[in-house]
Amino acid sequence: MITPSLIECKSLGKTYLGSKSPALVDVNLGIAANEFVTFVGASGCGKSTLLRTIAGLELHDRGALTVGGRAITGPGPDRAMVFQHYSLYPWLTVMQNIRFVRQLAVHTRNRTSSDVEAAAGRSQALLDLMGLGAVANAYPNQLSGGMQQRVAIARALMSRPPILLMDEPFGALDAQTREVMHDLIAHVHRQERSTIVFVTHDVEEAIYLGHRVVLMAPRPGRIDTVYEVPLPAIRNQAMRLSPEFLGLKRTLLDRIRETSGMKTDLELLEKLSRNDDPKTPAASPPEGSSSALGSGPARAELAH
Ligand code: ADP
Ligand code: MG
Repeated sequence: MITPSLIECKSLGKTYLGSKSPALVDVNLGIAANEFVTFVGASGCGKSTLLRTIAGLELHDRGALTVGGRAITGPGPDRAMVFQHYSLYPWLTVMQNIRFVRQLAVHTRNRTSSDVEAAAGRSQALLDLMGLGAVANAYPNQLSGGMQQRVAIARALMSRPPILLMDEPFGALDAQTREVMHDLIAHVHRQERSTIVFVTHDVEEAIYLGHRVVLMAPRPGRIDTVYEVPLPAIRNQAMRLSPEFLGLKRTLLDRIRETSGMKTDLELLEKLSRNDDPKTPAASPPEGSSSALGSGPARAELAH
């Protein structure tokens, strides 16, 4: 039996107001409940646009987008977003930051003591899950970047969102901290049974975390290829050195280069450096020109 998708994009497209070319065209993708899907691709290929559209922060202008069978018309409590810059409230402690949104929600209804107890229990459980117990009363500026991002993730999880949307959440962290965060978010995924849609420019991160890696291509932004990750569901750091991991890494890097046009840039550079080398009897610069870049097709291609 085929499992119905929790998130379903059908022929999804979006063009920003005033923009000539579409940011997304013909995106067809289903994401199952409890899946961990990662998105990679050259800068500008529409990764953030797709994520923000799923979050309901942008509206698509073509095709259909549903979550749990319902059309997305705006943000909702079923989807929480974590950004690269954690944007915590600097005047609140770690614990107060984590409880903040839930407290707002509890205030708007007539809160009962069991609501408050449930919120307190959940925030304490999240503090423990994130290894933040010792800094519950610290302020954000007293914490490292990795710890601040853990607080932001805990805050996003506070209302038990079934879907967690993450846009390059570890992009600002150093390599060691990122490794720790990878194991942490994989653990969170198992514990909370959430569905995670994770955007990154780091191919290793995409493979290590994802059940599937969606490779996007630019101009116009679109899905190029979807790869199943050939690794066991529960990952460990040693798997980064396995032939399966390294093979997929090479495939993804090559494909990103091909789809981004970087390959042609490199070929052009090679051609130009051959022209600069007096020993190479390559194409000579045009008459009257002092540089290989002076005129002709090479310059036109570079300008493009
Ligand atoms: P990525 O996250 O893959 O780098 P984005 O989704 O940010 O890509 O951008 C996709 C395309 O849409 C790019 O060409 C970008 O310039 C354009 N774009 C992104 N956000 C906006 C916006 N708010 N207004 C107009 N164009 C935008
Ligand atoms: Mg982006």
